[in-house]
Amino acid sequence: MSAIDALPPLRAVIAAHGLSARKALGQNFLLDLNLTAKIARAAGPLDTADVLEIGPGPGGLTRGLLAEGARRVLAVEKDPRCLPALAEIAAAYPGRLEVVGGDALRVDAAERLTPPIRIAANLPYNIGTELLTRWLDPPAWPPFWASATLMFQREVAERIVAAPGSKAYGRLSVLAQWRAVPRIVMELPPEAFTPPPKVRSAVVRIDPLPVPRFPADGATLMRITAAAFRQRRKMLRAALKGLSPDIERHLTAAGIAPTDRAERLSVEAFCALARELQPV
Ligand code: SAM
Repeated sequence: MSAIDALPPLRAVIAAHGLSARKALGQNFLLDLNLTAKIARAAGPLDTADVLEIGPGPGGLTRGLLAEGARRVLAVEKDPRCLPALAEIAAAYPGRLEVVGGDALRVDAAERLTPPIRIAANLPYNIGTELLTRWLDPPAWPPFWASATLMFQREVAERIVAAPGSKAYGRLSVLAQWRAVPRIVMELPPEAFTPPPKVRSAVVRIDPLPVPRFPADGATLMRITAAAFRQRRKMLRAALKGLSPDIERHLTAAGIAPTDRAERLSVEAFCALARELQPV
């Protein structure tokens, strides 16, 4: 473990503050500062950006982000036990780290930051998908964030980048690829974390497009993908029948065979159906 700053090694920080990992908070810490600096670089360029970090824990990634030159970091952490350790980092980087104690699902932190805003996080797995869905479905596009670099279970990362026809292709793939470019930039084995989780992990970087790839109403697309992938192996005319009494006609008008299945439908085809079903 090498030093990226003059602060104590993370194992010493954890021991000093009694930060035994809690499963209920999704606590699998990254203690290798080389690795956290590498994730921070994947989230860059940072020197011209404010960074929103969710779940800093003892601060490994936070230190990586600051050492890699982030203009400012706002970190939201639910576990009050971590706050004194994070205060020590804030003191080492005067004026560049603000820590907010609380639940990231309830705190609207973005309004405290100055664009461009980059999101970087080793997310607690239990709220990762919920947070990503919110970030991908804001009221207006482009979103408040200029990029999001996020750690997920590898299975979730694969869903985000999956192509139609693959087993992993689903709602998250359509939402992420409709108006952003997601790619897996790093894979990590369980041993990279303390304690090691049961599954492999991957870092996904998501860059929003200035305008969506295909026109569609976001709320309608959300409704269609929710219904279509809830019964992904059913024919679309059956899976989507709750959306319209005339679903076969709408599918045909959108250029989709009513006998086709959600897992084979391209993002473009989902958008065509959303335009067809959009309330006027
Ligand atoms: N970033 C640290 C690292 O890489 O070592 C910790 C990552 S750990 C996977 C997830 C962190 O998110 C924990 O510190 C946990 O306490 C925090 N957390 C869990 N639920 C949260 C929530 N709802 N809002 C904010 N932080 C949360």
